[in-house]
Amino acid sequence: MKRVLITAGASGIGRAMGEGFAAAGLEVWVTDVDGAALAACPDDWRGFQVDATDEPAMAAVFAQMDRLDVLCANAGIAGPTAPVEDVALEDWRRCVSINLEGAFLAAKYAAPVMKAAGAGAIVLTSSTAGLYGYPNRAPYAAAKWAMIGLMKTLAMELGPFGVRVNAICPGSVEGARMEGVLAREAAVKGMTRDQVYAGYAAGTSMRSFVQPRDIADMAVFLGSDQARMVSGQVIAVDGHTENPDPKV
Ligand code: NAD
Repeated sequence: MKRVLITAGASGIGRAMGEGFAAAGLEVWVTDVDGAALAACPDDWRGFQVDATDEPAMAAVFAQMDRLDVLCANAGIAGPTAPVEDVALEDWRRCVSINLEGAFLAAKYAAPVMKAAGAGAIVLTSSTAGLYGYPNRAPYAAAKWAMIGLMKTLAMELGPFGVRVNAICPGSVEGARMEGVLAREAAVKGMTRDQVYAGYAAGTSMRSFVQPRDIADMAVFLGSDQARMVSGQVIAVDGHTENPDPKV
């Protein structure tokens, strides 16, 4: 049975990925910091309460791996919403660490398992912030942009061993995390939550927010043999962003 490991897989996009991979017949392993969310995952998933930036704890999870077909390095936080002059270095470091170092650590420990098997797929969850930038979200955009550099490099490094590496850039995805983002942005922009929401939807060609399932479907495809010649790619699942900073 093929196996997927998803970091931050107990809720939100990661949880939807787990459901997608389970439906595709893979055994699902998830890591997450949130023990309660892990406990609420399906009984046949293996869950590990681990912070994605904790190297010894991440190494301990991978030490139990006799096989790994797909890694979804998905852990990330939105970080502060503030003009750059108001961003505390501590908040910058935490945001960059969870998004970028979290992906690095997961890939670092997945690589030897996949290289030994001569096959594997790694999917990094970046963001449209990593394509366009994101006003008032400097650490997040910088980290998500850097994840694309990490992905391109890993694709070159691991491709000769049969391992593909790609990045998904979700647009605005509905869910608990987005509600926090909308509230913080409404405060910074002097708008209501609904105005910010409508602005982001209007800023896409599809005039719509993305659902977690949309990201999961792309991850399942990238992890499958149907994508066997797809590597080193950045794939936006965002309803086509026309205006990354809508002011409406
Ligand atoms: P979320 O805030 O819903 O969190 C999902 C899970 O991450 C939670 O279960 C949480 O406990 C876990 N988590 C948080 N910090 C962690 C850490 N240090 N180690 C391990 N687990 C941790 O997030 P989401 O909206 O599902 O986002 C998932 C990924 O998608 C992130 O990398 C995020 O940056 C990216 N993304 C999200 C959106 C969006 O609109 N939601 C858009 C673009 C990119």
